[in-house]
Amino acid sequence: MLGAIAGDIIGSRFEGEPAPRPGFALFHPDCRFTDDTVCTVAIAAALMGDRDYARALRAFVRRHPDRGYGGMFRRWAHTDHAPPYGSWGNGAPMRVAAVGWLAADEAEARDLAAAQSAVSHDHPDAIAGAQAVALAILWARRGQPVPALRARIVHAFGYDLRPETALAARGFDVSAAGTVPPALAAVFEATDWEGAVRTAVGLGGDADTLGCIAGAVAEAVHGLPSDIARTARACLTEDLDAVVTQFATLLSGRH
Ligand SMILES: [Mg+2]
Repeated sequence: MLGAIAGDIIGSRFEGEPAPRPGFALFHPDCRFTDDTVCTVAIAAALMGDRDYARALRAFVRRHPDRGYGGMFRRWAHTDHAPPYGSWGNGAPMRVAAVGWLAADEAEARDLAAAQSAVSHDHPDAIAGAQAVALAILWARRGQPVPALRARIVHAFGYDLRPETALAARGFDVSAAGTVPPALAAVFEATDWEGAVRTAVGLGGDADTLGCIAGAVAEAVHGLPSDIARTARACLTEDLDAVVTQFATLLSGRH
């Protein structure tokens, strides 16, 4: 999950800006955690608790109100008991990382990914995007090598993950269907975590969310370097960091 957070923080200063040049500094004084981190941590907290995803999202968003939320999501989060609003946005896959680490098998990963998505993002594209990210993490941490992992995702979700198309220049795309394939392709083409996130953030557009999703999956595929993990954690507030600690403790007890 810290891979998602680090990717969000690294991409944060390029959101909606021109694509950064290769070799950009990973961490910079302008970097900060954004909505991607807040929602990722909220879903992790809910998964470790009562699994009331909507309540957790609302509580975390209200505690961190100024983190770059989309307008529709912000309204939903500030309205008690608001129903899902048909969103096909990348908000569902960007917050799903913890599911990939906690799910015991494919069926549970699909169910949890869909459930956390459907409280707000109930469009089939958003649910599929969240399931693809969760399954990529689950299969990678089970030791699936990249070629097999890529093939399984293509087969299950029909995404085009060929680098020449998935990593082609794009505009500002906040759809799940337009964000998950490039983020996954960035991971599958890279040889380490940093390379994956550099490729994803380097696409520009919704750079923090591309970095978040790529960082989440790359943590399971390539491993997260400890210095990057440490620097990312230092950017968090105490309440978010406490959930990260709780999550790490839970995982270390399982493996
Ligand atoms: Mg963001």
